[in-house]
Amino acid sequence: MSTTIPNRAPDTSPAEILKAGIEAAQGPVSLACSFSLEDVAIIDIASKAGLNLGVFAIDTGRLHEETYEVAEALLERYRLKIDWYFPRHEDVERVECEKGLFSFRESLENRHECCRIRKVEPLSRALKPLQGWVTGMRREQSVTRGDLKAIERDELNGGIIKINPLIDWSESRVDEYVREHNLPINRLFTQGFRSIGCAPCTRAVQPGEDARAGRWWWENPEHKECGLHRR
Ligand code: SF4
Repeated sequence: MSTTIPNRAPDTSPAEILKAGIEAAQGPVSLACSFSLEDVAIIDIASKAGLNLGVFAIDTGRLHEETYEVAEALLERYRLKIDWYFPRHEDVERVECEKGLFSFRESLENRHECCRIRKVEPLSRALKPLQGWVTGMRREQSVTRGDLKAIERDELNGGIIKINPLIDWSESRVDEYVREHNLPINRLFTQGFRSIGCAPCTRAVQPGEDARAGRWWWENPEHKECGLHRR
């Protein structure tokens, strides 16, 4: 691919990052939406800026009901079309029959297998028709995201453009934005959850704990990625 990754001034707004990334992609761009506060903020920012941004979501089969409620609220508010992707049923059936329903708690290898089947493989299908994708990742979220860039080439997914418009936002800035604009939020956020993924792999965190401490809480912090954002 011959597109150039644009340089970014330090104070570039999320809308400007999105616009520059969409232009650089030179083709269809979609938000990988997990219905986090970040993703909801991005949908609102893109909508207000009149940007041509698609939205896709991966239904792993293990999501919280509260997450589906946010999806429905967004559909209604923005008249969105969400492209849903599911895991291949043969793979899910094989793992559940051979290893049971909670094999991901037994070893890192099993956890990666489950994430690969339920998230990574559907993601690769979702990205196929795209020239760019958008994520809600922020630099301060975890030790695994410190060297993130606002717009980068995603070499592990065919060299398409990856756009992280909220890269510099803090958790409180995101929180402030969604409340200020009265956006639909996952009810679990009011119950101590600060980063929400699949139901059996997410729990509420204690005050003062890292936001992602509730994801795969039985693992070390440097392992807390699902493979969607390999770099
Ligand atoms: S987060 Fe948990 S349930 Fe979801 S795909 Fe990964 S291991 Fe499986």
